[in-house]
Amino acid sequence: MSAKSKKEAIKSPRGMHDILPADIGYYNTIVEKAREIADYYGFSEIKTPHVEYAELFIRPLGETSDVVQKEMYTFRTKGGDLLALRPEETVAIMRAYAEHGMTSWPQPVKLFYEGAYFRHENPQRGRFREFHQFGAEILNDAESISDAIIIKIFFLFLSELGFKNTIVHINSMGDKECKFAYRKELTGYYRKKFNYLCKNCKRRFKENPMRILDCKEISCLEFRMQAPQMIDYFCDGCKSHFRGVLEFLDESGIPYYLNNHLARGFDYYGRTVFEIFDNTPNANSAQDDAGTLPLALAGGGRYDDLMALLGQKPLPATGGAAGIERIIFEMKKLGIMQKRFAKTRVFLIQIGPAAKKKSFVLMDKFRKEGIHVDASLSRDNLKNQLNIASKIGAQFAVIIGQKEAMENSVIIRDMDESVQETISESKLIDKLKTKLKVKK
Ligand code: AMP
Repeated sequence: MSAKSKKEAIKSPRGMHDILPADIGYYNTIVEKAREIADYYGFSEIKTPHVEYAELFIRPLGETSDVVQKEMYTFRTKGGDLLALRPEETVAIMRAYAEHGMTSWPQPVKLFYEGAYFRHENPQRGRFREFHQFGAEILNDAESISDAIIIKIFFLFLSELGFKNTIVHINSMGDKECKFAYRKELTGYYRKKFNYLCKNCKRRFKENPMRILDCKEISCLEFRMQAPQMIDYFCDGCKSHFRGVLEFLDESGIPYYLNNHLARGFDYYGRTVFEIFDNTPNANSAQDDAGTLPLALAGGGRYDDLMALLGQKPLPATGGAAGIERIIFEMKKLGIMQKRFAKTRVFLIQIGPAAKKKSFVLMDKFRKEGIHVDASLSRDNLKNQLNIASKIGAQFAVIIGQKEAMENSVIIRDMDESVQETISESKLIDKLKTKLKVKK
């Protein structure tokens, strides 16, 4: 191994990262909240493999989509299969629906998921090569209310987590026919601007001009402002579907912005598309590549044509996904929920072999009583242990020295006030519970 590769061997791959204990509290809180809401709305959880046949993703996402062209991690197995690390979940869920005959389940089928996804993107703030999402999908339902339920779930999730200023950007991309008519018009529009488009958009123009709308380069964004609006090309069905979604959002008081040029990057989207942003003024949110737009915390939409792209009987469906790393980033920026993660409120300190034995048993008693206690049982030094207790922000230390161990007593020390009292060991749990309640 060369010196360089030795160095690289102890670094995580570019764009992939560890989620350290300091962030796991955020991660778990996010997933717990998402699960709780999804469960309430009748979604069942599903886990699919991290790896699928590469072909599964190619047609539904679009051969010309950025994900398929540049971002999919593919590899050939020794047996000759071409596999891909999953870049997203929706397609895998549709595969599972077909594979497990979910048509015979009570309809619509509502599924929730959470896990790691892989895209070989240019790593930057809020954009990773391995990232985590949770998402929800409603399969076999064509009604506007399903789109509204999906949006509501993500909106609710963010507000209950503590986001006070989220806004839903929403648009409809029309069904297959409307999209075709709009695409024709858009091609005419961008043909005149071709020379001024960025390098990527020149390619997108030839492959699928609708992807230009998704470009974040400032020059392309300016052209987007003047581009024909999708809604002008909709049939009555698409118009009334979209109107229906907006009415449900109005009814639940969910703030939205009609973003007539919002187009999501995958081919399978049709009709409703949405993205949710934090809109807190001066929050210095994660930005896109051009540093101009905040990055979406969640996004999704309707994908009625996806199942047909997989060669199966068409199935109306809608769903969305949220990026966990981006949500953690924004939560930290906005100072959301930091307190809740300081879980350890009591630190157990012991000095001497008899106290150590007592503490060893006491830990289980605390757990059974629902008191979260931390300890450093392999240490003996009082000062050391008090230092740790104060570093982790414990509110109380329970101290057992040799004398206390002999007398069946304990010392409870209030770490903020630096005052302590000795009580009998039998009163410890009740006393501590009362003190914790008072401090909250
Ligand atoms: P998508 O699967 O592209 O619809 O994205 C849904 C959500 O996942 C986005 O709104 C982001 O919050 C998150 N996300 C997508 N791509 C990445 C990435 N490369 N790194 C981190 N988060 C991402």
